[in-house]
Amino acid sequence: MREDIYRDVQENVEKLSGKNVPFWDKLAEKWGFSNKETIRSQYRNEAKRRGYSLYKARQKNGPKILIFDLETSPLSGYFWGLWQQNIPIGAILKDWHLISYSAKWLFDEEVMSEVMTSREMLNGNDFRLTKSMWKLLDEADIAVAYNGLSFDMKRINTCFLKHDFSPPSPYVSVDPIVVAKKKFDFSSNKMDYISEFLDGDRKLHTDFSLWARCMEGDEEALAQMDLYCRKDISVLEAIYLNFLPWMDNNHPNMNVFYDDNVSRCPMCSSINIEYTGKSYKTTTNSYPSFVCKDCGYHGRSRVGSLSREKRKTIVR
Ligand SMILES: [Zn+2]
Repeated sequence: MREDIYRDVQENVEKLSGKNVPFWDKLAEKWGFSNKETIRSQYRNEAKRRGYSLYKARQKNGPKILIFDLETSPLSGYFWGLWQQNIPIGAILKDWHLISYSAKWLFDEEVMSEVMTSREMLNGNDFRLTKSMWKLLDEADIAVAYNGLSFDMKRINTCFLKHDFSPPSPYVSVDPIVVAKKKFDFSSNKMDYISEFLDGDRKLHTDFSLWARCMEGDEEALAQMDLYCRKDISVLEAIYLNFLPWMDNNHPNMNVFYDDNVSRCPMCSSINIEYTGKSYKTTTNSYPSFVCKDCGYHGRSRVGSLSREKRKTIVR
């Protein structure tokens, strides 16, 4: 669904839902839909994809969740061939550095991004971008990056070390690719593929020539890289929200980020959880289980339901 249509519909839904105002007919006519059911069902799908119910269910004073993505330069150097090369360290002409980053706070409309200037590219000087990323990660309680555990987190730490920054204050890293590999069998675990699998939203495609032009400090290419990186971040946010109920131990428990004594969904922090009557069994105890009515996560109480006497009789 187009951004402007989605925003308009959402505004109407927020203002007029449950007020007995027949706004769907008007919206269908305004945006050229054949009837109200068509626009309503398209809106519902789009809202689900964007995690709107999770947005509504989010709790105030919750953790700051940063979604981010880095683009880095290739190394340049001398090599003798293309196949099975073992390139000596001395053959590196220029080591990798950042080209751009994009980031957003979960559910915020604003996408933050920075890209190297032509001069910075030619000098390989990523100090400015490193400093901005340090500030963002220092502010974050949770940082989400796709393939972040093997790539983005390590790369940005390397930049911090290079420019003599101390580590940012603690945050928990969440990497949706770990969940993609553990819980699903996608034909490809690339973000591009999964995004299309979920909702048909294609990432902007790039080929190596864009990187090559960026390396030369081409301003148009750098602007295009920024755009590519910014588009990626909304895709990543949608994947993160879609994966939430499947994340289990690959996501921090949201309950520990709040100061009060309310039980929340460990994944999305919604307080709308409902005990199902079913129980979760471990080898030595049984725990009442619940479902989150907003993200669909199944969790369990920490207190077992078996009596002390019963537990004494359990052998293994
Ligand atoms: Zn939830």
